[in-house]
Amino acid sequence: MRFSDIPGQQQVKQLLVQSVRRNHVAHAQLFRGAEGSAALALALAYAAFLNCEACGPAAEDSCGHCASCQKIDKLIHPDLNFILPVTTTKTVAKDAVSSKFMAEWRTFVLDSPYQGFNDWMQHIGAENKQGSISKEESLQLLKLVSLKAFEAQFKLVIVWLPELMHPAAANAVLKLLEEPPPATVFLLVSYAPEQLLPTIMSRVQPVVVRPLTEDELTEWLHGVHHVPETKARQLAQLAEGNPGAALTTSAGAADEQDHFTFFADWMRQCYGYQVAKLLATADDFQKLGRENQKEFMQYALGVLRKVLLFGLDPQLVPHLPAAEQQFVQGFSRFVTPRNADPLTRELNEAHYHIERNANPRMVFVDTSLRVAELLKMAS
Ligand SMILES: [Zn+2]
Repeated sequence: MRFSDIPGQQQVKQLLVQSVRRNHVAHAQLFRGAEGSAALALALAYAAFLNCEACGPAAEDSCGHCASCQKIDKLIHPDLNFILPVTTTKTVAKDAVSSKFMAEWRTFVLDSPYQGFNDWMQHIGAENKQGSISKEESLQLLKLVSLKAFEAQFKLVIVWLPELMHPAAANAVLKLLEEPPPATVFLLVSYAPEQLLPTIMSRVQPVVVRPLTEDELTEWLHGVHHVPETKARQLAQLAEGNPGAALTTSAGAADEQDHFTFFADWMRQCYGYQVAKLLATADDFQKLGRENQKEFMQYALGVLRKVLLFGLDPQLVPHLPAAEQQFVQGFSRFVTPRNADPLTRELNEAHYHIERNANPRMVFVDTSLRVAELLKMAS
C-alpha cells in the first residue's frame, strides 16, 4: 500500500511524510476514522514509507518495489506485526491470538483494507462469537517487542481496533506506550476511539482520517475500481465520503447485475424449453449456496412483478437500467394477468423449499419445467 493508492487525505499524508523527513516519528500514533475509512490503509502506507529502503530525503511516498516495500505490501515483513481482535473458530479451537490468524488477515487486507470488524469476523468464520484482543495477547505482545528489529529501521506494531482490547491487553499496551522499546512504532487504528482508555489516549499522537469529498470518492471509484462515472457519483453521494461503504454498495450492485443476467438467461431457457441448458443452469444454481439461492428467488419475484406491471403500463416501472428495460419489455409479452399468479406461486414455493433444505438442484429443475409450461399460457 502506498500513499498514492489512497484517495484524498492530502493533509494527513503530508503530516506523515513530514514526520519522517524531520525525524519526528512519534512512537505511538492513533489513526482514527470511521469504519470503512482509510485509517488502516494509511497506517499500512505509512509503515511502508517508514521502512522503505529506496526513499531519498525528498521522497513523498514509498518506492513500492524495494525488498522492504514488497514484503510490507504482501504483509509478510518480519518487522511488521499485527494485533487484532480474534476469537475461537473451527480452525483455532483454543487460545485465539492474532498470530494464529495471519494467513486470514493477509487475504482479508489484500482483498480490501476498507472492510470493517464484522467483515473480519465473517472472514475468520467467527459465526456469532464475539471477537476481542484477548488477555493472552498481552504475553505475545511483550515477547514480540522484546526482540530487536530483524531487518528494518523500525519495528512496527499495528493494533487494529484497540477499542476491543481486553483490560489485560490494554494494560500491556499502556505499559509499552509508557516505556517504549527502542525503534518500535505503534500504530493504533481505531474506529471508535472514544471507547479507549484516557490513559492510552493521552499517550498517542492522533492522526485524524476524515471522510473524502464527493469528487475524491467518485474519481477513485471510477479510476481505480472501474465503476462507470454516473454510478460512481451516485455511490459517492450515498456513501458520504466513506470508501468502505461505497465499495460495499458497489459490490452489492454487482450481485444485482449477476442475478439479473442469471434470471434473464433462465427465463429464455424456460420459454425455449431448452432442457440441456436448463440442467446446466441448475448446476450453476446449486453452486450459489443456500443464502444466495434464496436471495435469487426473492430477486426473481421482484423482477416478475416489474415485468407484469410493465406489461400493464410501462409508466408503472420508471428508472429501469437500459439492459433490464430491454429484457423487461420483451418478457412482458409472456407474463400477463393470466399466468402471473401461478408464476409467483412457483417462485415462492421454490424459495420455501430451499429454505427448508430441499435439494436446490431438484427444486430448480422442477420449478423450471413448471415455469416453462406457465409461460406458454400468457395469452
Ligand atoms: Zn521501498
